Amino acid sequence: ALGYHKVVKENRNLYNIVQDLKGNIRVYCRIRPPLNTSVQNIIDFIGSDGSLVVIDPLKPQKDGKKLFQFNRVFGPTSTQDEVFRDTQPLIRSVMDGYNVCIFAYGQTGSGKTHTMRTSSEFVIWLLMIFSNSLPKERILSSSLTMDTLEIRSCVSDDSLVLPDATLREVKSTIDVINLMKLGEVNRAVGSTAINIRSSRSHSVLTVHVQGEDVTGGNILRSCLHLVDLAGSERVDKSEVSGDGLKEAQYINKSLSCLGDVITALAQKNSHIPYRNSKLTLLLQNSLGGNAKTLMFAHVSPEGDSFGETMGTLKFAQRVSTVELGAARANKESTEVLELKAQIESLKRALAYKE
Ligand code: ADP
Ligand code: MG
Repeated sequence: ALGYHKVVKENRNLYNIVQDLKGNIRVYCRIRPPLNTSVQNIIDFIGSDGSLVVIDPLKPQKDGKKLFQFNRVFGPTSTQDEVFRDTQPLIRSVMDGYNVCIFAYGQTGSGKTHTMRTSSEFVIWLLMIFSNSLPKERILSSSLTMDTLEIRSCVSDDSLVLPDATLREVKSTIDVINLMKLGEVNRAVGSTAINIRSSRSHSVLTVHVQGEDVTGGNILRSCLHLVDLAGSERVDKSEVSGDGLKEAQYINKSLSCLGDVITALAQKNSHIPYRNSKLTLLLQNSLGGNAKTLMFAHVSPEGDSFGETMGTLKFAQRVSTVELGAARANKESTEVLELKAQIESLKRALAYKE
C-alpha cells in the first residue's frame, strides 16, 4: 500500500476549504514585457488587487480605457518565481485528491510557453513532496503528450484514450526533465518551423497521482493537467492553405468549443457541450464537476496587439464568471465528512472574527 498523506495532512485543507467556498475557477492574467519598446504600450494600469486597465491606442482618452478584474495580474516585471509561488497551493491540492487543470491562453508570442515552463518545477516539486513524505519508490506516474492532440473517447468506461501519449513513471528530477524535453521535441516533429507548429497545436502534460491515505485507508487518485494552448489569434485564411488550413481550422474549432463550454458553464446550462472537441473532452473532468481550474490569460502589451489583447481579456473575464460550486476530492466519504467538519469550524472562526 502506498501512503503519503501524513506529511501533507498538517498544513493542507485551509487553502482548499477557502477555495471551495469561493468556487473553483481562477483567472490570472500575465502581461509579457514589451519586445519592441518603440511600439506604444497599451497597458495603462495594473492594480495589486487584480485589476488592469487597457487603453485603446486609437482612443487614448477616457472612453478608450477598459477595466478588467482578475484574481491576480502579473505585470511585465513579474518573475517565474512569483508565478510558481502563487500557483503552488493549487498544485498542492492535487496531493489531497483534487483534479487540477492549469491552462495558458493567449495569442502567439504572448508568453504562454514561457509561463508553462514552470511546469517542470511543479512536477519536480510534487515529486519532492512524495519522496520526502514516504521512501516508497513507486508513487508518481506521469503521462506526457505533446504534438497535436489526438484523443479518442473510450465509450465503455467513459475514460479518454490518448493514442499519442506516452505514460511514463517518473522517479527522479532527471526523469521529469527528460520527459519534458521529449515532449518539446515531439511537438516540433513534422515541421521545421517550430513556432508555427506550436502556435497551432495544444500541448498537454498530465501528471497522474495515486496514493493511499495512511490514516483512513482511502485511495486517492487525482490528476494535474498543464495545458499550453494553441495561439488564440484569428487565422487569416489567405495565409494558410491545404493541411495548414485544416490544422488551423481544427485548432480554431477546439478553442471556440472551449469558449462554448465556458459560456455554458457560466450560464449554468444543463447541457455542457464537452463532446464537441477533443480538447474539451480531455479537460471535461477539469472544467466541470470536482476540479480546480486556473487559467493564465496571456497578453502582449504592444499597441498592434490591441485587438487580440482585448479578445483574450474579454474571454478571460467570461471564464472568471464561471462558478462551479465546491471542488471535490476523489476519495471516500470519511474524508468528505472531515472536510465538512472543517468547513463548519472555519465558518465559525470567520463568524467569530467579524
Ligand atoms: P507563446 O508560447 O504564447 O507563443 P512565448 O512563451 O514563446 O509565447 O513567448 C514569446 C517570447 O517572449 C519568447 O521569446 C519569450 O522568451 C518571451 N517572453 C514571454 N513572456 C516573457 C516574460 N514574462 N518575461 C520575459 N520574456 C518573456
Ligand atoms: Mg508557445
